[in-house]
Amino acid sequence: MTHQPTSQRQLFESQPQWVEDDARCGLVATVVLPDGVAKPLDYLVPDALAAAVEPGRRVRVPLGRNNRECIAYCVSVKSGELPQSPLKSVVGVEDDKPLLSRRMLELTKWMADRWLARWGEVLEAVLPAGVRLRKPTRMLPLLMATGAASQRKLTPAQALVLAAASAPITAEDLARITGASRAVIARLLKGGLLCEAGSTERITGPVANTRLPISHDRPAQLSAAQRDALQAILDPLRQGQHATVVLFGVTGSGKTEVYLQAVEETISYGKQAIVLVPEISLTPQTCDRFRARFGSVAVLHSHLTATERHAQWREIAAGRVGVIVGARSAIFAPAPRLGLIVIDEEHETSFKQATAPRYHARDVAQWIAQAEGVPLVLGSATPSLETFVRCLKGEWKMCRLADRVGGSQLPAVITVDLRDATSRSRGVLSPRLTAGIQWALESGGQIMLLLNRRGFATHVQCRACGFTVRCPQCDLALTLHQPGNRGICHGCGRVTALRADCADCKAPQLVQRGTGTQRLEEQVRALFPGARVARMDTDTMRSRGSHERTLDAFRAREIDILVGTQMIAKGLDFPSVMLVGVVNADAALHLADFRAAERTCQLVTQVAGRSGRGPLGGRVVVQTSTPDHPALLAAAAHDYEAFVRSELPIRETLLYPPFGSIVRVVVRSIDEQAAANWAAHISGRFQAEVAQEPLAMIRVLGPAPAPITRLRDRFRWHLQVQGPDGQQLRELVRRATATLQTPDNVAWIIDVDPVEML
Ligand code: ADP
Ligand code: ZN
Repeated sequence: MTHQPTSQRQLFESQPQWVEDDARCGLVATVVLPDGVAKPLDYLVPDALAAAVEPGRRVRVPLGRNNRECIAYCVSVKSGELPQSPLKSVVGVEDDKPLLSRRMLELTKWMADRWLARWGEVLEAVLPAGVRLRKPTRMLPLLMATGAASQRKLTPAQALVLAAASAPITAEDLARITGASRAVIARLLKGGLLCEAGSTERITGPVANTRLPISHDRPAQLSAAQRDALQAILDPLRQGQHATVVLFGVTGSGKTEVYLQAVEETISYGKQAIVLVPEISLTPQTCDRFRARFGSVAVLHSHLTATERHAQWREIAAGRVGVIVGARSAIFAPAPRLGLIVIDEEHETSFKQATAPRYHARDVAQWIAQAEGVPLVLGSATPSLETFVRCLKGEWKMCRLADRVGGSQLPAVITVDLRDATSRSRGVLSPRLTAGIQWALESGGQIMLLLNRRGFATHVQCRACGFTVRCPQCDLALTLHQPGNRGICHGCGRVTALRADCADCKAPQLVQRGTGTQRLEEQVRALFPGARVARMDTDTMRSRGSHERTLDAFRAREIDILVGTQMIAKGLDFPSVMLVGVVNADAALHLADFRAAERTCQLVTQVAGRSGRGPLGGRVVVQTSTPDHPALLAAAAHDYEAFVRSELPIRETLLYPPFGSIVRVVVRSIDEQAAANWAAHISGRFQAEVAQEPLAMIRVLGPAPAPITRLRDRFRWHLQVQGPDGQQLRELVRRATATLQTPDNVAWIIDVDPVEML
């Protein structure tokens, strides 16, 4: 049944005056569309739907001239006087329960404002697709032993299966736990030794598939620094108050143990904890430790299907899961009894989403923790400067864990100056680094070599004319991958067969320049023929589980030398690593990004921390052409804070984050002139707004071609606006862009406080 406001009004026209006054009152729902119109819209709620329309549910509303029916999020319902202009009516309700709590609605509104995103796209982003599409959960039959077994002779495999099926269990779990084949289970079913005993929802959430036995063992005693840090978290936790506590501790200083004990206390109160990690597949050890300690842990990783995610969401929302571990978007897990949020490796850039809405999970976590009155714990060996400054201002509490637990020493760092002729060699390994590898091999240790470039050669160049082979649709040099002489574009992934002669001057003089992990692996194998070598980068780690397999093999000491990109720098704890080599510490230092130095210092410090965690001790060799750069001096001295002290004044002078805010605009078009023109047009709007507010100290930089000037056939231009006050800056950007009519052949995005400047 649909109610037409116009017909209602017609009806009331013949009524006495007081009824007409009454008729102007009613229920009005404010809705937000997932795409299209950005502004919230008001609709009349017909009486028949009054009970069902509530904030957080989705409704169907007519839109536009032809009243196309659309699904929209109801964000508020008000009763009172109706406006003069007639309103259209809500025609239906989609969900039988709110998908979003009032707090989530508030949060998403704040996020839309904070990152200049549309509220509708934020709402879509916080709900997993499986929840929005209401994927039905798959039901699996449960099996159970019938007890008819006693008279028969069983094979050992059958006996194992029947023992495991003393309580209802799915065939999948039975096979996994006992190692029996599906055929064994099928035969037992057929023979009447197993029977069906109801069914269960398929849930890959509160997972039983821990790779470790569950053990509630904790270390006998926390170190003094760990005790202080734990206390700083437990105080607000017990008082039901918000506080942000930063654990600034070198790798191996026992931060994870502090998280574990804080989570333990949280769930002992019947509350839930959310633990964010940079990327699930890169942090298997951290996830395993949570599973091992708590057993039932929901691990939200990117390999979940929409259905699995939906099932997890409902388990969490029902309060049946105490611990939730996941990457960035797990911060939106609908925990009704949230007690604690932990972000491990808080400096990692993966906590910022690269697509709209471009939010940062650290800021979202801070908002939630404050709103819910719960502690937020941020941990890192190399905290972001954003976090450091909040601590210096006294807003957040910093706890230092300066020493490794168990007393192992931080490894000595040797810097090799690549400008020095004596440190050169035929390959990329200097004599010092080669000697270090030899030393570690002879001492029975393992080695990790970091080179943050994948592929064989980073570019292919003609020796005669200097021509570099580039991707036809991106302005990027092709990286050579072997075997097969393939030129791969790291921007768009396009593969081109490389010819032997130069496409420009036809001279047969193409040479392979720059070394990637593939060539490094080849050189290492040639130099150390007796050693077992493996490589870990996105090229070798494409298949699911390959990452864990390689790490397992490394842990089992089936690999002597592990070569890899920054993938090998994350959260791993291998006691036998005696040497870490950073093949080219400058690789990321000279990128056109104001965070280049911070990133480099973090990466080198993190990877250096992988060495010497066991009783054998360890060393680190860092190869660089700029050994005097503060980022490298600090990393070599294991003194990250020294880098912070040298970097903060630079940021402050230039008003870069954390002292100011940046809004970056990137314009793309297939037509270079169109991209340049549109960037100039937006820049002009910004300039005009800045002229209105000369005291705001807002600067417009650009427009200019972006560092990657062309990607997938689109020319890219960018500009930046920056200023000391984020709120003021965003308001200016909002005013300047409010009425823009974007040309058809141009696309553009706004990124508030970007972490990616290419
Ligand atoms: P981080 O997270 O800072 O890298 P971890 O919590 O992983 O540090 O601790 C490093 C290692 O030391 C782990 O194997 C952990 O089990 C162990 N450990 C942590 N705290 C203690 C302690 N108080 N006593 C003994 N061992 C500990
Ligand atoms: Zn390309």
